[in-house]
Amino acid sequence: MSHHTLVYGIHFSVSDVDGNLLDQSEEAHPLYFLAGHGALLPKLEEMVIGMTEGEKRQLTLEPEDAYGEYDEENIQVVQRSEFPAEIELEEGLELLAEEDDGEVRPFVVDQIEGDEVTIDFNHALAGETLTFEVHLIERRLATEEEIAHGHVHGAHGHHH
Ligand SMILES: [Zn+2]
Repeated sequence: MSHHTLVYGIHFSVSDVDGNLLDQSEEAHPLYFLAGHGALLPKLEEMVIGMTEGEKRQLTLEPEDAYGEYDEENIQVVQRSEFPAEIELEEGLELLAEEDDGEVRPFVVDQIEGDEVTIDFNHALAGETLTFEVHLIERRLATEEEIAHGHVHGAHGHHH
């Protein structure tokens, strides 16, 4: 692991092509992340890493560089009995599926018809071209402990 791993603190907002605001950091809670750990979309992280403290930049990403194209094959119909009995299924419910290889994939319950449950593995922002506005407010060296843990500690990071 490089001893030059950096922690970045950003304020950001993300909008769709029509200018609708989809998400943004709260004024009191900038997003802090450790470079190189996949916390941000790769192209977005690449931009932030090239910024200087105090700088503001904008970046528009096509779906392929954001959350992927919307794929019909990511929609599946499964039997209600395949879900643990204690889960109360309802449309819009977000759950995690564990694959045979141990990988965890999030999905949303799209529709329930009798015993048939339609689930959607597409990311909620799949198919969207997204515009990010980023303000880099802080950049500092990561501590050894942060590098070992793979996440940011302190006032704006992970608490444990
Ligand atoms: Zn930690």
